Amino acid sequence: MSERLKGKVAIVTGASGGIGRAIVAELLSESCTVIGLNQNQDPSNIGYYEFIADVTNRARIEEVIGEIIQTFRRIDILVNNAGVTKDTLFYRMSYEDWDSVINVNLTGAFNLTKACIKEIVRNEGVIINISSVVGLEGNIGQTNYSASKSGLIGFTKSLAKEFGRKNVRVNAIAPGFIETPMTERLGEELKNKALERIALRRFGRPEEVAKLVKFLILDGTYITGQVIIIDGGLEL
Ligand code: NAP
Repeated sequence: MSERLKGKVAIVTGASGGIGRAIVAELLSESCTVIGLNQNQDPSNIGYYEFIADVTNRARIEEVIGEIIQTFRRIDILVNNAGVTKDTLFYRMSYEDWDSVINVNLTGAFNLTKACIKEIVRNEGVIINISSVVGLEGNIGQTNYSASKSGLIGFTKSLAKEFGRKNVRVNAIAPGFIETPMTERLGEELKNKALERIALRRFGRPEEVAKLVKFLILDGTYITGQVIIIDGGLEL
């Protein structure tokens, strides 16, 4: 246990999920005060402060961030990690499939950033957006998801340019296949096909993504506006 983030306050959305939980664990290991924002209560909370809010609900997000500022007095780090998939071929994609994925993955990140930005600027903080390799390359059956993840990349780069002079760093992480509930849902055949395309011949572990998040926060002090790919050598 080290204390490099002692006194800092981090918000992680989707803290109950596979990657979210690993990010929380990594930040806790540096003595950070970690606040997880979940839409449902986390039955296996690993020791973070939990707030229940849907990232698409702007009024609720503003309320929760207000409470967090009142209670913890600061926000230094925001990890926009909450995300969903609703995969289907384009002909079959409903308006609802499109809207819900864009709303959670892209507009959700906007909502959180909007609510936290003044605090993050005040503390010369860090924002990390969890995008995806699909946001760089596209993928069959994921027009909604890939558009949301590409959108996050544009959002990241523009924010980095806008807030660089305030010493706020904003980066995106683009994971490939990571072992989480999100990829558990893929069938065996699809998983095996994916493995053949990964140079390291395995899916990534959530902890590996979380270590990159920690690196960007603590050591990547001259890195901003970047998309860091973590995919074990995946060829899409
Ligand atoms: P996961 O295990 O399914 O976790 C997703 C998390 O997001 C859950 O905590 C979920 O909460 C939360 N969430 C979903 N909708 C929400 C909403 N409207 N408001 C608040 N929270 C919400 O997925 P994961 O694999 O850890 O994914 C985390 C991030 O990494 C996502 O942005 C995903 O797109 C990205 N990513 C994952 C992979 C991968 O291979 N796993 C690859 C590339 C990128 P509930 O469970 O309560 O709904």
